[in-house]
Amino acid sequence: MRGVGGPSADLPSTFAPLLIDWQRRAGRSGMPWQGSRDPYRVWLSEVMLQQTQVGTVLGYYARFLERFPTVRALAAAEGDEVMALWSGLGYYSRARNLHRCAQAVVEQHGGEFPSTAAGLETLPGIGASTAAAIASFCFGERVSIVDGNVRRVLTRLLAFEDDLAQTKPQRRLWELAQAMLPNNPSADDMTAYTQGLMDLGATVCTRSRPACGQCPMQGICRGHQTGDPQRFPVKTRTLKRRHESWWLLLVRLSEGPERVWLQRRPARGIWAGLYCPPVFESEQAACAGLPSAWLDLLVALDAVSHSLTHRELRLHPLLLELRSEPLPGELPPGQWVDAMRLGQHGLPAPVKLLLQTVWTPDLFAQP
Ligand code: SF4
Repeated sequence: MRGVGGPSADLPSTFAPLLIDWQRRAGRSGMPWQGSRDPYRVWLSEVMLQQTQVGTVLGYYARFLERFPTVRALAAAEGDEVMALWSGLGYYSRARNLHRCAQAVVEQHGGEFPSTAAGLETLPGIGASTAAAIASFCFGERVSIVDGNVRRVLTRLLAFEDDLAQTKPQRRLWELAQAMLPNNPSADDMTAYTQGLMDLGATVCTRSRPACGQCPMQGICRGHQTGDPQRFPVKTRTLKRRHESWWLLLVRLSEGPERVWLQRRPARGIWAGLYCPPVFESEQAACAGLPSAWLDLLVALDAVSHSLTHRELRLHPLLLELRSEPLPGELPPGQWVDAMRLGQHGLPAPVKLLLQTVWTPDLFAQP
């Protein structure tokens, strides 16, 4: 089976016009960030959509913009407030980078985003594909996005045989993506083209079931012609997840206003900077430092599983209900958080779910 040659070798010249036409007729429309040429709004949507489905992003996007309508408002916010608004979206490094990036835009660029992909890429947390998306949507730059969805579409379209686990083929695919851009596009053409690449990967040329019968590229797609488009992209390295068990000590104080004992996670590692009940490697470790009179009060709740990029976590909650304030040192390091103010704290999604299960959903009403 053949692959493709150099960047300009035998590329289907009809790809760009077909894609632009298809996007305008049948692509996704009506999403709140579409049609905007405001780099702040486009950047926010791109970061939120990186690892999250559109349906989930919609509510977060609206709340974020309501609270932080401009990059200056976001830059001036407290980190904890940004994390609290992000809480539940996962991949929290995105929120930390978002905040750092907003501060860099204000401090280094006078509150204006750079207008080229190369300039945007110098900002914290903005990679090549996000920079290309912002530059093409907002400034009409003729530059291609190459995220996971686009890699899938292009490797199938071109029957690209090389291993994308290697750097050289990754670079070659990017050069091919650049070579396939429309000729002399208007800003509107670039918007439709970039959106079309995203839409085709998300809605037609999907990972496990490409809908070739509904695809505008069917007539020029070499992957389709092989009869087995799913085998693209070729990528040898597979992700191995490590399995880990964590015991979470959920301490609730019912004396006075109801409170929960939470620790701030370290600045690096899983759930960095978020609030979480104290974490232990075993049930014995969780019990070891507690006064013996409390051990009979501990209730082991059902364990829940949670997947992270590199780890599979099994979370074992241990519930401890206290009627009166403990003495200093009786609990692991942490702080009481008023249950009515939990919504103002950045919490990992499974912890939020656990607290909602143990207590009541209205604890998480936004301030
Ligand atoms: Fe993907 Fe099939 Fe379309 Fe080719 S024809 S781009 S494999 S959906």
